[in-house]
Amino acid sequence: MIPAPFDYVQAESAAHAIALLAEHGDDAKLLAGGHSLLPMMKLRLAAPEVLIDIARVPELAGITRDGDELVIGAATRHADLAGSALVRAQAPLLAHAASLVGDPQIRHRGTIGGSLAHADPAADLPMALVALGGSVQLSGPDGARAVAADDFFTGFFETALEPGELLTAVRVPCRPDAVWGYQKFVRRANDWAIVGVATIGGRIALANMGPVPLRARAAEDALAAGASPAEAARLAAEGTSPGEDIHADRGYREHLARVLTRRALDGEHS
Ligand SMILES: Cc1cc2nc3c(=O)[nH]c(=O)nc-3n(C[C@H](O)[C@H](O)[C@H](O)COP(=O)(O)OP(=O)(O)OC[C@H]3O[C@@H](n4cnc5c(N)ncnc54)[C@H](O)[C@@H]3O)c2cc1C
Repeated sequence: MIPAPFDYVQAESAAHAIALLAEHGDDAKLLAGGHSLLPMMKLRLAAPEVLIDIARVPELAGITRDGDELVIGAATRHADLAGSALVRAQAPLLAHAASLVGDPQIRHRGTIGGSLAHADPAADLPMALVALGGSVQLSGPDGARAVAADDFFTGFFETALEPGELLTAVRVPCRPDAVWGYQKFVRRANDWAIVGVATIGGRIALANMGPVPLRARAAEDALAAGASPAEAARLAAEGTSPGEDIHADRGYREHLARVLTRRALDGEHS
């Protein structure tokens, strides 16, 4: 389908994007890679009157190191994350997750900020950020604030972003030596996760086991108390609330969470 008509403005800086958001209010939407927003506009699930393009704002792109954290600009594309020597060395789980998003075309347009703001519970990068214990930087008319990944995802496609706020950057702890695992069960290669599991250093995050990326807290607690990976993985579905669709019912998703957690805890990357 063809989207409803809209105006297009290219932001020149983060401050300009925030000013444009304030000027246009609810009529405006930020446009990053467009790989979630444009399909929604074509389906008329979204009909913004103004698109504020942030994809070419230099200060929103790029990956740097700040002490023991990586700072990743919101407009950094999945392909740049996956290919970054810095990310591969310091947060290999994140580079791996980015390499599994969609197909090459999507990875060359889609951005980490867009993926996190869109907050699809089946997506790769929200789960990876929760597993890594990262955070996001948000800026709006009232200033800047940091929100931990655990608190950022508030509901089904909902986040802590307030109207008028821009996600400017993502901070990820450097964990070069931590054992990590990543399991994504898909119907076809490069698809969305039917269930996903990311583990690192005793933290376990699940994709598509509820309205937001969830921590498998019972399994984490069991690991901390000395349980084996197999014992802990048996608890991976506790406290989750997976939906049902044509790909899997609730029971099958719970089964997948247990099996994939076991594999991920064994340090498997697939
Ligand atoms: C066919 C297909 C397959 C896909 N497969 C996968 C997959 O396997 N795994 C996966 O994780 N994802 C997948 N995706 C989604 C992909 O990762 C998108 O790129 C991503 O979800 C959205 O990023 P974007 O930069 O394109 O955002 P956009 O579509 O531009 O924006 C998405 C939303 O976020 C808002 N937004 C964007 N940037 C910001 C910001 N900096 N601050 C505040 N709000 C912002 C927008 O206003 C909009 O509401 C797939 C997409 C397609 C089309």
